[in-house]
Amino acid sequence: MAQHRSVRALAAMSLLAGLLFATISEQPASPVSAQSAGVVYLTFDDGPSAYTSSVLDVLNRYGAKATFFVIGQQVGARAATMRAIADSGHAIANHTWSHADLRTLSDEAIRDQLTSTNGVIASAVGSAGPCMRPPYGAINDRVSNVIAGLGMRPILWSIDTLDWEDSASVGSVVSRLNNARDGSIILMHDGGGNQSHTVAAVDQWLAANAGRFEFRVLPGCGGGGGVPPVTGIGVSAVAGPAGELDLVTRDSAGTVFVRRWSSGGDTGWASLGGISTADPDATSWGGDRLDVVVRGTDGAVWHRARENGGWSEWSSLGGQAVGSPTIVASAPGRVDVFVRGLDNALYTKWWDGTQWHGWAWLGGGITFSPDAVSYGPGEFDVYARGQDGALWQTWQSGGAWHGWARIGGALTASPGAATRGQGRVDVFVRGGDGALWHSAWDTSAGWYPWDLGVGLLNSAPDAVWRGTNWLDVFMRGVDGQIWQMTWDGVSWIGPYVLA
Ligand SMILES: [Zn+2]
Repeated sequence: MAQHRSVRALAAMSLLAGLLFATISEQPASPVSAQSAGVVYLTFDDGPSAYTSSVLDVLNRYGAKATFFVIGQQVGARAATMRAIADSGHAIANHTWSHADLRTLSDEAIRDQLTSTNGVIASAVGSAGPCMRPPYGAINDRVSNVIAGLGMRPILWSIDTLDWEDSASVGSVVSRLNNARDGSIILMHDGGGNQSHTVAAVDQWLAANAGRFEFRVLPGCGGGGGVPPVTGIGVSAVAGPAGELDLVTRDSAGTVFVRRWSSGGDTGWASLGGISTADPDATSWGGDRLDVVVRGTDGAVWHRARENGGWSEWSSLGGQAVGSPTIVASAPGRVDVFVRGLDNALYTKWWDGTQWHGWAWLGGGITFSPDAVSYGPGEFDVYARGQDGALWQTWQSGGAWHGWARIGGALTASPGAATRGQGRVDVFVRGGDGALWHSAWDTSAGWYPWDLGVGLLNSAPDAVWRGTNWLDVFMRGVDGQIWQMTWDGVSWIGPYVLA
């Protein structure tokens, strides 16, 4: 077992944090307060073992739910323990058959490790969920693709209690548990060695913190309930003509913040004041121009713009928005705003360079906020979640609006769309499993199948093309941090925490 632990230690040092919302990073300079307690995801690896029942006793005493990543070859001898995990409302997930470093195995052997474990989980408790954790956190693109090919999803962690180290003690585990905050995914072990210090540490820590946090199973990993609605604040991204990037978000009090990267450097987060009661959105039609829209405390849409380094005052555009407004520039001086109205229809209002027009009713029955892209004057796509939970689209071409068309998928937040010009649009959504999913349309192929399926989102995603080859997606993770994922023209990078 000592050897098991030392291999685990080595691999932990080379942990690839790239694929998931799980890394040990400093909180970025975010305007969003992390003060409030929230949801914490306790996870236990390497069971079931003789210690699992003690872990369950502690969790159940405090009403805390957790996710257990089990080793397949240990399941058969402890079927009763497996049922006890499931009966208490915890989630059971896959930690491979023999705790293998999947990077060293063939594709077929990786599939065997996972499907055989799913088989014994299903035998013990009736069904196996889609979540897995690669032993040692060891994963690469090939392993990731094999996992995705099975319809499964890797989950890493954001806090390692190091309870697997030979030197671990109750005190050392408690001190690392004290780093928990809203969205933390905490790695502990109910097997793999003597874990009595883990049991005692969880007991001691929950005694002090059970009232501060909610302890839930990982979203989309089974064990009760569906994916919770998003409670995090999204981030709107806007690209400038020379690769500049503006991000706009708000804090928990609603104050709007902007941050800009350009040849002049990184401005850091700067307050725009105001109070937004939904995610803000922004667009640009060139230079340092930035148009920002928010939903005010009165439910109306409010607008503020930057040009030549100066900001206009906040001004009301009227209307009654349910959720976030979206704004898109189609030409220099021309911006269009779209909102979901009180009747769940889509409404639009536009600035023609001189004055505001609208509101105009565009119909539809949408269930979250819309997102819009423009290919030029009179050319728009608007995406929204329909009443069936799928992605829908309406569009304007040649100045005329068309009806709504169903694209498909299962959305649990507003979509985020981006275009790099006529003939190509990329759409990102938070799926039914809480992960980031992507599809795209181009003139040659139509809609592509959904891909990615990574991470755990606690906001709607927003995407932006920067130049011809770079596509960036921004989103809030369940850990409360802002995450970014980048297409560099060849492959996907991330998700990673916004630096
Ligand atoms: Zn393990």
